[in-house]
Amino acid sequence: MVTLSEVRRDPIVRSRVSIISPIRGLRPKELTFVRHETLNISKCPFCRGNEEMTPPATLVVKYEGGCLKFLRDSLNSTVGDWLVRIVPNKYPIFTRESPNAYGYHEVVIEHPEHNVNIYDMSVEHLRLAFLAVFHRIKELYNDPSIRHAYLFKNFGGGGGASLPHPHMQLVATSTILPSVYEELRYSKAIYGKLGNCPYCKLLEGEVSSPRLIYMNGEFAVITSYAPRNSYEAWILPLKHMSDPLKLSDGETSAFADAFSKLMNAYSKCLGTINLNFWLHMSPKGSKHKSYYHWHLEVLPITTLWGGLEKGGNAYVIASSPEDSANELRESLR
Ligand SMILES: [Zn+2]
Ligand SMILES: [Zn+2]
Ligand SMILES: [Zn+2]
Repeated sequence: MVTLSEVRRDPIVRSRVSIISPIRGLRPKELTFVRHETLNISKCPFCRGNEEMTPPATLVVKYEGGCLKFLRDSLNSTVGDWLVRIVPNKYPIFTRESPNAYGYHEVVIEHPEHNVNIYDMSVEHLRLAFLAVFHRIKELYNDPSIRHAYLFKNFGGGGGASLPHPHMQLVATSTILPSVYEELRYSKAIYGKLGNCPYCKLLEGEVSSPRLIYMNGEFAVITSYAPRNSYEAWILPLKHMSDPLKLSDGETSAFADAFSKLMNAYSKCLGTINLNFWLHMSPKGSKHKSYYHWHLEVLPITTLWGGLEKGGNAYVIASSPEDSANELRESLR
């Protein structure tokens, strides 16, 4: 039996649609990109012990005397025994020298070991990595020219990664990225109409919908209603907050737990699949800041985008978000 396609508009970014088309899943083979890279570890600039291969760290997280410390390298000495290390990108997209693309571009080395990928990382280590990111964003926000921070990860060749050592990238810029600008603008409009942000409104329905994958006391993990790839998922704080910079210790742990559950479910259902994720948070000091609801969007590379996706902003999806969520949820049982 052929099931008819269904067009869905993203509930927040109204310019984007998905075409849920189960018949596409019946094609001989949906392309998947699994990671295959190998690199000589002695030459990896992100491995512990090779600190001299990167510019001095702007932030280092490590335990000293049982206490968690946030330190930084000096010009002539590097901090050893680190757990998470943030360094300036050697090939920066944004720099403080370029007036038209002003900003910072840094690499968050998530783990000292080369072969620990995002799917294997412990909740505790993920907590440290996110703590480091939030700490560093607060420091970058001391620069009065910086308006916005954006964290993203490219995992595997299909995700656009150039080095396999576990890392994320952090940019802080003087301009607001278009996707966040659009979400912010829509959030303000909905707040004006309904007195509530569109993500809070979305959560009211999603926590009891077939798209819920996992929920703890602070965060919900859901599949996107109108995904760009099958299995696209979002992690949203249950409480309305514009950015993650004031998360309590308990909330940061809950975020790491939600993230880890999603990675766990992906690895069970899709293997060590290539992916991207990015963190959307309110720009610094925006007058619309209070309307915004921060979140993490995760996009596994389950298929390669074609002309309809790239030129039409219409994403053809073979596995419905409800079926994907069911599969991911069941894998966590
Ligand atoms: Zn390495
Ligand atoms: Zn909200
Ligand atoms: Zn978003």
